[in-house]
Amino acid sequence: MLRFCNDSVKIYKGKFDVNTAVFKNGIATDPNVGENVYEGVKKILITHGHADHFGDALFLEGKVKILAPRHETPLVENPEINWRGMYSWAKLPEDIVTPYFLGRGVRVDEFSDSLEGVNGIKTVPTHGHTPSHKSYLIDDVFVAGDSVHCPSYWEKFGILYYVDPDRMMESLKVIKREDWDLLVPGHGDVFERGEGLKVIDKNIKMLREKDREIYEIVRENGDDGVEEMEVIAELARKYGFKGVKAVLVVMPPVRGHISSMCERRLLELFERGGKIAVKAVKPYRPKS
Ligand SMILES: [Zn+2]
Repeated sequence: MLRFCNDSVKIYKGKFDVNTAVFKNGIATDPNVGENVYEGVKKILITHGHADHFGDALFLEGKVKILAPRHETPLVENPEINWRGMYSWAKLPEDIVTPYFLGRGVRVDEFSDSLEGVNGIKTVPTHGHTPSHKSYLIDDVFVAGDSVHCPSYWEKFGILYYVDPDRMMESLKVIKREDWDLLVPGHGDVFERGEGLKVIDKNIKMLREKDREIYEIVRENGDDGVEEMEVIAELARKYGFKGVKAVLVVMPPVRGHISSMCERRLLELFERGGKIAVKAVKPYRPKS
C-alpha cells in the first residue's frame, strides 16, 4: 500500500507497518512490502539488522546491490544472531521470538557506513535502537529507520525497543540538525519537517520519561532495592504486555536505562540470593 508519494520518492506501508522507500534514483530502503515494487531499483539500503526491515531483500538478492551497516551485517545475514543475543546467546525456542526479529537472512554486498556523496546519499550514524543502526539522507528525505519511533507507537505501547537510551538520545539530536524536508520513521506515518521536529522532540521527551519512571520504580523499594526482573515486570504490568515474546522485547530498554543510571551513579546493581537486584543510591537527576 502506498503511504506517501512525491516527485522523488514513493513510501510504501509494508509488513509490520514498516516504511519502505523507493526513490526515483534507483535506491530503495528497508524493503518489506511483500510484493514487487522495485522496478528500476539498483541498490537496497538497510538501516539495521531487525528482520522486519529487510524481508524483501531475499527475492532481490543477485538482482540489486544490498547494503547494510558493517556491524549490523551479521544480523542481516543470519537473523538468529539477534534473538540469540537477546537471550544471553542461549538457545531459545523460535516460537517465543517476536515476529519482528524472525526472518531469512540475505547476503550483504557492501557496507553502507560511509556513503557520503555516493548517488546523493549521506549515511548518518544513529546508534541506540541497535548498536550500529544507520539512517540515510537521500535527496531531502531522512530515512530514520527505528532511530525515530512514531508517536502513536509510544502511546500504544508505553515503552519501545532500544538497547542504549543515551545513544538513542544523541542520535535524535543529530537528526534534528540534518537538512531534510521529510522524516520517514521505521514504522507508521511520515512527517514534513515542522511536524517531524515535533516527533523527534516527543521521542526525546519519552526517553527522559522512561528514565525517570524506571528510577522511581527502583527508589520506591528503598535500601533493599528490587530485583531487575521485577522492574521489567512492573513495566510489563503497567503497559499490559503479555506473553514471553513481549517481555523479552521490554528487557533491553529497561536494562539500557538501568545501565545508564548506574554509569551516572544514581543506581547500583548488586547480587541478592543469586538474583540481580538494583537500588537507588542518589536522588534522581536527568541525563544532561
Ligand atoms: Zn528495529
